[in-house]
This record gives sequence, structure tokens and C-alpha cells, in this order.
Amino acid sequence: MAGRVLQGLRDAALRTRPIFEDASTAFAGKETHELARAYAVLTGCKYYGFVDQLSPGAVERLLPYVPRWAVMPFFSHFVAGENEKEIAPVMRRLRSAKVEGILDYAAEAKLDEDDGRSTSGAVAREYAFSSEQACELNARTFSQAISAVKNVSPMGFAALKVTALGDPALLEQASEEIRGGEKVSPGVLTSIERRLRKLARQASDLGVGVMVDAESYQHQPAIDHMCKQLQREFNLRRPIVLNTYQCYLKDSERRLRQDLAQARSEGWIFGCKLVRGAYMKGERERARRLGYADPIHDTYEDTSANFSECVDLVLEHLAEHQGKTSLMVATHNRESIEGTVRTMERLGIPAAPRDGLRGGVNFAQLLGMSDYLTFSLAHHGLRAFKYVPYGPLGEVMPYLLRRAQENSELLTKVDEERALLLREIFLRARDAVLLKRA
Ligand SMILES: Cc1cc2nc3c(=O)[nH]c(=O)nc-3n(C[C@H](O)[C@H](O)[C@H](O)COP(=O)(O)OP(=O)(O)OC[C@H]3O[C@@H](n4cnc5c(N)ncnc54)[C@H](O)[C@@H]3O)c2cc1C
Repeated sequence: MAGRVLQGLRDAALRTRPIFEDASTAFAGKETHELARAYAVLTGCKYYGFVDQLSPGAVERLLPYVPRWAVMPFFSHFVAGENEKEIAPVMRRLRSAKVEGILDYAAEAKLDEDDGRSTSGAVAREYAFSSEQACELNARTFSQAISAVKNVSPMGFAALKVTALGDPALLEQASEEIRGGEKVSPGVLTSIERRLRKLARQASDLGVGVMVDAESYQHQPAIDHMCKQLQREFNLRRPIVLNTYQCYLKDSERRLRQDLAQARSEGWIFGCKLVRGAYMKGERERARRLGYADPIHDTYEDTSANFSECVDLVLEHLAEHQGKTSLMVATHNRESIEGTVRTMERLGIPAAPRDGLRGGVNFAQLLGMSDYLTFSLAHHGLRAFKYVPYGPLGEVMPYLLRRAQENSELLTKVDEERALLLREIFLRARDAVLLKRA
């Protein structure tokens, strides 16, 4: 089996261009009307001019007045459904194509109306803190997502956002202390740690993974600090907790090196998701406003070079410590994926087995984006995931808009996918006509 997987990987490495250009493989599990919808939605996103003008709050207010038919194509393309029941068939289809899920409940828990502190309901990648009670409700929502993973994608993960679990002001205070080389003051992170630990324990008991998203620079050291503690506790026999490294940060490679060395010396399983980073504009603006050095690499090329260096670092660790490393390469960048596959080949790292343990090398893209990469990777024996948002329509749409704004650059780079979609639609139409004539 290992030999066959390895052979598959060798083939993939040698033929990376053709494997991502085979539309029939990439879209085998999709109905033709889904391909047409994907083409229309991605074309709309490419010419997204309006996306940057809208605010998530405005979208939430306007949504009740917008006809459902105008919203549903976007919702159905990027979101798996409103609840666990609705996402089950989507996950079944992904799994039949050997793709697993990273479930992201994309809505913020609301307090009761009479609490007087109900949240705006705006869904964000970073949560606006309203109260400890709201954080408890968010923790309950994450807990439901962990159970949902067990039910619909048992080899998958639930995505966690730490800013939903406590006061970001406390995360910022702890982060400043850590950056200043001090110990975190007693009590500052206690309630956030308690909620995180409970979620990690639940995931560990159910045998599913949790993936902690990376957020803003001013909160990240505290998030890293708590994640490392959880990895020490829960990543002993298998990787349960994965932390995220944003490679656009100038200090990311140094932190990654340190954490790898610590995992090695302390003997726990190192689990990480590598991304380029989603908050570039906001981070640069904040650094300028507050007068500190911009933490983000100066150019896209620098970020990309750092991304491949970080991938190489983790792969080298993996090659030496098989079974002690779990890497999630989370990118829509085809060159980054090809580079990862080439390095795996060079270091003799086999494709990760589909054994539910989540070790080895994994790849992930967002639902509705770069399907041609995800499904081709899975088809060729590499372990692939979709980051799957779900939640009530009215709450997910502002979240989607915010995500579209964060990834607006990405949405303009969909030409390759649109060309493949068009080719597949054309081939299917041609086959249907030929079949009718025969
Ligand atoms: C499964 C998944 C999970 C994710 N989780 C997170 C997360 O937890 N936290 C998070 O922050 N993001 C997360 N992201 C988003 C990710 O960080 C990127 O924003 C997004 O994937 C685009 O990067 P790319 O490598 O796919 O594409 P590319 O188009 O190759 O890269 C675009 C990225 O390059 C960087 N960049 C662009 N221009 C410049 C410049 N001038 N100077 C420096 N850098 C530049 C930015 O990071 C930009 O987002 C996730 C993405 C995926 C697919």
C-alpha cells in the first residue's frame, strides 16, 4: 500500500502540471449545473469591484430585502449549509472524493435579547468581545462544531478562533508581556485557557482534531502560548491540536524554528497549519497608526519565499520524526503546492495514509475555491481538506463578505479555475449532444 501511495506521489511530483489541468478528474463529483454556478459565481467575484464598498453590517441590514434567488448562488457555493443536518450531504460528497473537512461554524453566538448586550450578529474572522457570557456561548458553538466533525468528517478538524473565547484586551496584554520577555501575569488568560482546554479535551476524547486559526499580530503571541500548552497536553499519541503560522509575518520562521525545537526536546507531536496570512491591510495600517515597525514582509515575493522556507522546515522535521509531525499546507497557490510535493519527493516523505490520525502532510483550500487543486490532490493520493464554513444564512453572509474582502486579491486570480470549469462544461455538453445523436 505504502509503495503504491508513494508511486502515486512520484507520479504527481513528475506530472504536477498535468494533474492540475485534468478538469475531468477535478470536477468528477460535480453536477453540470454546479459547474455552471461555480463559473458564474467566480466570474462575479473576479469583477468584485462592489465587494470592497460594502460593510458586513450593511449586508446584514439589507439581507432581508434582497431576494433569496440573488443570494443563494453565493451562499450555496461557499457555505455547506445552515446546520449539521444540511452539511451532512455536502460532507458525504466531499468524502466520496476522498476530501475531508475543517468545519468552521461561521457565526457568532447571540445573547438573549433581554440581556441588553446582544452582539450585532456580524460575523467576523475576529470576534468583537461583548461579555464573558457571550464567550461561553461561543465555546458551546465550537463544541457543537467538534461533535459535528465526529459525525460528518471524523478524520477532519473543527476550526477555533481564540478571540471568540475571551476578551481580546486580555489577549493583547498577555501578548505584550510575552513579546517583552516577561511571564504572563497570573489570571490574565485563565478563563480563555479553561474554555480552550475543555474544547481540546472534547476533541481528544472524540478522536477529532482542532485547528486554531491565526489572528491579529497583537493577539498572536498569547494564542501561540496557549496552543503550545495544549499541544504539550493533548498531542502525545496523535496530533489533536494544530496551531497556525502566518508566513507574511517577518518573525514567523524564527518562531516556527523555536517551536519545532521545543516539540523535539519535549517529545510532543508538532501540528501546524501554514498560511500566508489574511490581515495584511489591517496590520500595515495599525503599525503605521501606532508607530511600530511593520511586522509583515515588504513584498509578496518575500512572503512567498518565507512560506516555502517554512514548509521546507516542517517537512525536514517530518522526514526525521515520522509520526511526530502534522503539517497542513493551507494555500490556493499552485506553485506552493507543487513546491511542497517536490520537497516531499526529495526527502522521501510518502503521502499521508487515510488512517484518521492526521499525521504527515495535508493540503487545504476553502470550500468553493480552487476545487481543481483540492480534488486533483485527493485523486492522486495526497490528503486534501476543504475549509467548510456553515451557519445560518443571515449570519454567514456578512462573514463571507468579510472573507471576500480579506481575500479580494485571491478572488481576482481565478482565471485558471474558470478556464477549467468552462472546458469541462463544454466537454460535457459535447458528450451529451453526441450521445443523443448516437
Ligand atoms: C484552509 C485555509 C485556512 C486558512 N486559515 C487562516 C488563518 O487561520 N489565519 C489567517 O490569517 N489566514 C488564513 N487563511 C488565509 C490565508 O492566510 C491567505 O490569506 C489566503 O489563503 C491567500 O493566500 P494564498 O497562499 O492562498 O494565495 P496567494 O495569492 O499566493 O497569496 C496571497 C497572500 O500573499 C500575501 N501578500 C500579498 N501581497 C503581499 C505584499 N505586498 N507583501 C507581503 N505579503 C503579501 C498575503 O498574505 C495574501 O493573502 C487560510 C486559508 C486557507 C486556504
